[in-house]
Order: sequence, then C-alpha cells, then structure tokens
Amino acid sequence: MSSAPEPLAPATLVVTTGRPPRAPGAPVNVPVELSSTYAAQPDPQVTGALGYGRAENATWTAFEEAVGALEGGRALVFASGMAAISAALTLLPPTGALVAPRTPYNTAGAVIRELEAAGREVRWVDVQDTDAVLAACEGAGALWLESPTNPLMEVADLPRVVAGARALGLLVCADNTFATPLLARPLELGADVVVHSATKYLAGHSDVLLGVVVVRPDETGDRPYAALLAHRTRHGAIAGPMETWLALRGIRTLHVRVERACANAAELARRLAGHPRVTRVRYPGWGAMLAVEIGGSAEDAERVAASCRLWLGATSLGGVESLIERRRRYPGESELVPETLLRLSVGIEDVEDLWRDLDAALRKRA
Ligand SMILES: *Cc1c(COP(=O)(O)O)cnc(C)c1O
Repeated sequence: MSSAPEPLAPATLVVTTGRPPRAPGAPVNVPVELSSTYAAQPDPQVTGALGYGRAENATWTAFEEAVGALEGGRALVFASGMAAISAALTLLPPTGALVAPRTPYNTAGAVIRELEAAGREVRWVDVQDTDAVLAACEGAGALWLESPTNPLMEVADLPRVVAGARALGLLVCADNTFATPLLARPLELGADVVVHSATKYLAGHSDVLLGVVVVRPDETGDRPYAALLAHRTRHGAIAGPMETWLALRGIRTLHVRVERACANAAELARRLAGHPRVTRVRYPGWGAMLAVEIGGSAEDAERVAASCRLWLGATSLGGVESLIERRRRYPGESELVPETLLRLSVGIEDVEDLWRDLDAALRKRA
C-alpha cells in the first residue's frame, strides 16, 4: 500500500520548485531563455505550441511553477505588479460593484478610480471592519483585498472576509505582496485570485520589477487562468526572461529572508513603542512592514528619514535592505495617511545596527 507523500513545507518548496528535471548532466537551474521565437511544432493546433516569445518562455514556466506551488494555485508572470493587477482586474464580472480597501496600494487605487470614473460602482471599505466589508459585499460583484494595507497596516480577518464574500458569490482577489505566501495563502481560504508585486519580497533584492497573478488550482480557476493567459499574450505586458530568472533566484532565499526580516521587525516594533518621539506604531504583530507616526510636523518626519545613515530613504519594500519613507510626500497618497507617518520596510541587517541608526535619526533635532 502506498500513501500520498507528505506535502513539502514552504521552506523546502522555495528551494526545490521550478527546477529542471533531474537527469544525468542536467543543470540545477533553468537557463535564462532568451528567445523571441521557437522552431515550429509539427501541429500548430497543439496548445502552447504558438512558438513565440510573447506567449511562452521556459524561464517564466519555472518561476510560475515556484509561485504556484507556494500559493497553492496556477501562476502567470507579468512585467510588473501593476501589470499583474491590471490583468486581474479584467476578470471582474461585467457589472456589479467592486468592494475595495479605502487605502489600497496607491497606484492600484488610481487604477480602481479609473474604473470608477468609467462608471463602475466602487464601495471603499475599512478592511479591518469585517461586518462593514461583508455589508458592502451584499449585491456587489467583486472584492479587492489587501492585508495588511499599505501604508496604514490595516489587517483584514481574511478567513471570515473571504468566506463571506465567496458565499455571496463575489469574485475575490487579494494582493498578497505584503504578507508573502509564507504568511498568508488567500487561495486556500477560498479567494479566486492572488496578485503579487514580485518586485518586493519574492524577488527580494530591489533589482527587478515583476508581477504575478495566481488563480485557484481547480476547475473554478481554469476559466480565469485561460482569460489571463490570453490577456497577457494579446496585450503583451510580458516579463523579461532575465528579470524572471532573478526573481526565481530570489525565491530560493525567500524563507530565510522573511524569517529574519520578521524577527527584526518584531524587535524594532517593540522598541519603537517605547520611543519618546514615536506617538503610534502600526505593526500587525507579524510581517516585516511597519509604520510609525512621530510627534511634530511633516518636516520633522522628513528629517528623520533623511537623517538615517543605514536605512535608505526610498520608496518600495521587501528587499534585503531596510527602507524608510514618509508616504505623504507623494501627492497621490491618501489623506487618511497621517502627515508624520513613516513606513518602514525592515530588511535583514543586524537589528542592533538598524535600531541605533533609527534611534539616532529620531532623536536628531533641527
Ligand atoms: C509595489 C506594489 C504594487 C505594484 O507593484 P510594481 O511591481 O511596482 O508594479 C502593488 N501592490 C503592492 C501592495 C505593492 O507594494
């Protein structure tokens, strides 16, 4: 009698998926497949036999296998997180309201407002308020989720919100960039679609822009998968093979990077909560992103970011290096975000070095 093998843990999957088949002399990594075209297949009707680089690429396939294994679905790589989000939004039912977080990632918010301007009803919600989210889902067509939200770090009760929205027949899409598939797997909770800015934790080294959409592995996901594949091939927001290869290489260390960054973030959140210049720490209790509000003005907060020597004052997140930024410096940022809020993407450096630098910057007076 044979029993099904134990599923591999995420820490193992990040190392083992998306590899070439083991055979004598086979390389351990897939190549960067730089080819715009492929020798013709005898039968042009065979699915996947288009033989053109806008439709298929072996480096993409390896990356998609890895992300699909981690999220528990079928993945498609896109040129950026926003390309992935734009593709996922084409899956919305033709009518019906879209329920969305009141402070989504700001460019995603801009795209959702484009839909609103084109006539789609959008119901903006506080994702922390499960009852309000589910009330907004009544009679709506789709739910867009981010948890934690950027940069207010609002956390949704994903199991309840996803199950409730699904029970009401909504299409549920979750931007899982902040959590990574190591800390949340929305598809397992019943979500239909997960998107990532792979630019962030998945690639993890601030050297590529890349995005990925993942759909359910069952027949429910077949139609969205086919639609997304057709969208990518037709609209052409395709990923470069080199970027894809770098992101796959980044995934190999995802587990150790996230583990270390999360440990650093937990320690910094604890210390920041007792800091005299800090009025509020927004930290969900997990993950490697946090936000602090400081006493004083927007200029004071800018000065803190600019005074850091180790933390880099820069946008983006999820890389090995720690980044700090005052989000309201961008005109597009929501007014719900406090002027003195500093968003911290905690990296994998030594936590004492990170603390000393941050503490000195916070204490520095003009
Ligand atoms: C960065 C980011 C995006 C956009 O991804 P790009 O790769 O920059 O296009 C979308 N959602 C979240 C949560 C992000 O942090």
